[in-house]
Amino acid sequence: MHRSPVQIVWLKRDLRLNDHRPILEASLDGPTVVLYVFEPKLWSMPEMDRSHFDFIVQSLQVLSRSLEAIGGRLAIRVGELPEVFAEIARFVDIAAIYSHEETGNGFTFDRDKRVARWAREIGVPWNQYPQNGVVRPLKSRNGWAALWETRMKSPMATTPDRIEIPDHFDWGTIPEGDELELKKTQKKNLQIGGERQAIETLQSFLDGRGCDYRKGMSSPSTAKDSCSRLSPSPAWGCISIKQVYQQLQSRQQEIREAPAGASDSRWYGSLNSFSSRLAWHCHFMQKLEDEPELEFQNISRVYDGLRENEFNQERFEAWKEGMTGYPMIDACMRALNETSWINFRMRAMLVSFASNHLWLHWRPTAVHLAQHFLDFEPGIHFSQFQMQSGTTGINTIRIYSPAKQVIDHDPTGVFIKQYVPDLANVPNEFLSEPHRMPLDLQTKIGCIIGKDYPPPIVEHCKAYKSAQEKIFSIRQTNSAISEAKRVFVKHGSRKNRDPLPKPKKKSGFQQLSLFDDFDDPQ
Ligand SMILES: Cc1cc2nc3c(=O)[nH]c(=O)nc-3n(C[C@H](O)[C@H](O)[C@H](O)COP(=O)(O)OP(=O)(O)OC[C@H]3O[C@@H](n4cnc5c(N)ncnc54)[C@H](O)[C@@H]3O)c2cc1C
Repeated sequence: MHRSPVQIVWLKRDLRLNDHRPILEASLDGPTVVLYVFEPKLWSMPEMDRSHFDFIVQSLQVLSRSLEAIGGRLAIRVGELPEVFAEIARFVDIAAIYSHEETGNGFTFDRDKRVARWAREIGVPWNQYPQNGVVRPLKSRNGWAALWETRMKSPMATTPDRIEIPDHFDWGTIPEGDELELKKTQKKNLQIGGERQAIETLQSFLDGRGCDYRKGMSSPSTAKDSCSRLSPSPAWGCISIKQVYQQLQSRQQEIREAPAGASDSRWYGSLNSFSSRLAWHCHFMQKLEDEPELEFQNISRVYDGLRENEFNQERFEAWKEGMTGYPMIDACMRALNETSWINFRMRAMLVSFASNHLWLHWRPTAVHLAQHFLDFEPGIHFSQFQMQSGTTGINTIRIYSPAKQVIDHDPTGVFIKQYVPDLANVPNEFLSEPHRMPLDLQTKIGCIIGKDYPPPIVEHCKAYKSAQEKIFSIRQTNSAISEAKRVFVKHGSRKNRDPLPKPKKKSGFQQLSLFDDFDDPQ
């Protein structure tokens, strides 16, 4: 039995070695065990998917090699917490636990409270460090943007040269997915986990792909190359937001200092937009940190009862399967079912369609898409769902026309035909509304609406008007207005009070700008 005290680094959503303060601090204090715990109860939640597991395993394998290169070692356990810590404490003296602060879901919040209680009772200090721009505890949203910027500009935690490990320790092994009852995924072309992959993805974006980011981010066919495609990495912590920010700053400086005409002017707008999104990442997570209840209940409580009693399971199933009869909705959903990634605009459209056209409550749809987003980040996810569903009370209500999205973002059907092969022969002029094809054309091209592809599940104009009326009838009441003020004080971004600020049309890099809304080119 090894009785000299051991530091335990408890890995959460921080599967990296760079800019990892808990690993650095622990390694300075003596023999260190870097531990990841697969918690069966967490993995049994409907939000969690085998694709998340595979991404985490890939990331842990990379981290394990990085730790070994400096003398360290990764320890693995399968079990609940704090029981796993208690079991470890039977064999080693735990000097302290080190971890990042986690803005997770209700489950991880409650588990952290149990761990804190256990650590207090047995007298083990638990040192927690900020992981990103989320401030804990935050007294007021005033000045948050400045705090965020200061934090992003502060030095990154250095990587230890050497990690000392205890002489004897049961290091454990990474479990198979089956052990956690996770079925093998049918998904294809999934993004790969690991710190190296994250750094390479960021580099390829900043060095080349990102030039067209601003213009290319909205269409699902251009977005897959023009967007950074970084999101699963900060979500599972393969790279820190601070590292992304600092590399972005260096790139901005390089462009600024380049001789006139040496760099493409599109970089300015594109990197400004990217910079805003890094701030949004933490801005949305801060909302969940400040109000964990928003995972389950409307941010503005005046909307309670709006959709709860009208959930239509058939509509939900059609939406999940990509069988709504709206080609852009169906293609996006099928793309997600296959690859677990879609760009922001299409996520917003999918959710707005579910919440407004189909009048489905956001909670089951959010849980479903959490499973299909490889980058599932509870703070961003649930806040965005509420925003797109009109239940925050402070955001512009956007109800997209799915047909217009085809015309604007996939007029030749490159994306739609890739994911909805049923529509392969539909002429471009009917792609936005294939049900309008004359019957003889349907027969000729072998796409009979109602047989080969569904008719629209709801009629756009009718559904749109109905949703708008129901939401606005509440939004105009005095209680909704005063509730909106409360929500704004608690969660609203402060830099710009205009509910839909337009991007500033100037070249050069802007100061940080934070909006609750997004500044996609329309
Ligand atoms: C309903 C809905 C749910 C969402 N759920 C998630 C989620 O679970 N996890 C997640 O990371 N993003 C989520 N987003 C935000 C956004 O769609 C994704 O971050 C983005 O599409 C990821 O692709 P990317 O890395 O190429 O993004 P880029 O456009 O290249 O952005 C760079 C990074 O900025 C952050 N970011 C970008 N857009 C936003 C945004 N609108 N709000 C907050 N942060 C942003 C992400 O960390 C992203 O990786 C959601 C958006 C909507 C509308």
